[in-house]
Amino acid sequence: MLVFLVLHGLCINLQAFELHDAHLHYNQNVWKRLPPEQAIHFLVENNIQRAIFSSTPEKGTEMLYALAPERIIPFIRPYRAYKDVLTWHHDPEIIEYIRAQAAKGIYRGFGEFHMWIEHLDGKSILPELMQIAAEQNWVLSAHTDIETIEALIKMQPTVKVIWAHCGFSYEAHEIQALIEKYPTAYCDMSLYEKLTDEDDNLTPAWKVLMERHPDRFMVAIDTYKEARWGEVAEHAQFIQEWLIQLEPAAAEMIANGNVSRLFPLQKH
Ligand SMILES: [Zn+2]
Repeated sequence: MLVFLVLHGLCINLQAFELHDAHLHYNQNVWKRLPPEQAIHFLVENNIQRAIFSSTPEKGTEMLYALAPERIIPFIRPYRAYKDVLTWHHDPEIIEYIRAQAAKGIYRGFGEFHMWIEHLDGKSILPELMQIAAEQNWVLSAHTDIETIEALIKMQPTVKVIWAHCGFSYEAHEIQALIEKYPTAYCDMSLYEKLTDEDDNLTPAWKVLMERHPDRFMVAIDTYKEARWGEVAEHAQFIQEWLIQLEPAAAEMIANGNVSRLFPLQKH
């Protein structure tokens, strides 16, 4: 849906897309300076109508969800504390932690998690976690390399996998090959380096790819560090500026349609 932005009391002729962000965090290090009510207000102010949230620890997401369940799509992180980032993929205790979190009944996905292909050895807990994801009908948010995305999809072909930051800096043709091979592969475009040129114009390869497969891409800001919360307005504006360069139907899907489709609103 297109809406008009009202800035400084003036209605300006800038049309803005309602955004459904596929990658946000509300980590402990921002709770004091940015209380949950204010974080929600930030979303409202920037036309972020819904958002996938994962936080370290999980309490961050749960505080936001308690305030605005229609706006927050909670994902479980395998991090009870920051130190788990390095070891979670081989820590059997994480399985128990994930099961206990899942029992709360509010979580709709797993991630954002960080790992690389070398972590998928014989002792990895990923096969068991992927089994849980399939049973729970979870979507994944994976910060990883293309080999791991393929390996995870092969483990559980029904589990949808959102590749966080689209792997950061892969070429459009590599992403195209992946999403054309696997119908469950998606991309969030946060922190993506090759999406636009120095004039903020979408590069031709990306414009063509997103218009060819608009059902696989999602906008995202990724508040991975405290400073990113202070820049949400700037990033949301940048997203609006590249979305408007796409065909309207494709832009609408990428702005909000795909998140809506994957996560239908639930009754609360
Ligand atoms: Zn992130």
